Amino acid sequence: MNLIDFVSQFPDEESCKRKFKEIRDREGITCRKCGCSSHYWKRDKEMYECKKCGSRMSLKSGTVMHKSKLSFRYWFIVMHLLTSTRKTFSAKEIQRQLGHKRYEPVWQMMHKLRNAMGKRDDGYELYGEMELDDGFFSTPVPKEQK
Ligand SMILES: [Zn+2]
Repeated sequence: MNLIDFVSQFPDEESCKRKFKEIRDREGITCRKCGCSSHYWKRDKEMYECKKCGSRMSLKSGTVMHKSKLSFRYWFIVMHLLTSTRKTFSAKEIQRQLGHKRYEPVWQMMHKLRNAMGKRDDGYELYGEMELDDGFFSTPVPKEQK
């Protein structure tokens, strides 16, 4: 996927979130409390709710984006950059490209993505799934980027 395709497919936060949810739904959600795999989607709260025990889970929970306050779009943009260019980027450079004020969250995101990409061959859950999806993350990552 080139930059033009990326921008037209993911023009805003909503489109990224929709895509992310689509992938999670396909993969299936498992409740961390009771192990049940049936969930309601609470649209107003943007959370999954276990049909058995009522435990709630955010969309990002249990994924590479776990507890991240950064937008889905940030994650998508950076994943696209990393996978499509096959280049390494410093967190500082990414921070500059995103125009984000704080360095720390950007650094953490980069760190987690690198980990996820490194583990991709071992079938890292969501990331692996995304890779299969529409060839979005299909670009192989060179070993030296790990
Ligand atoms: Zn449950």
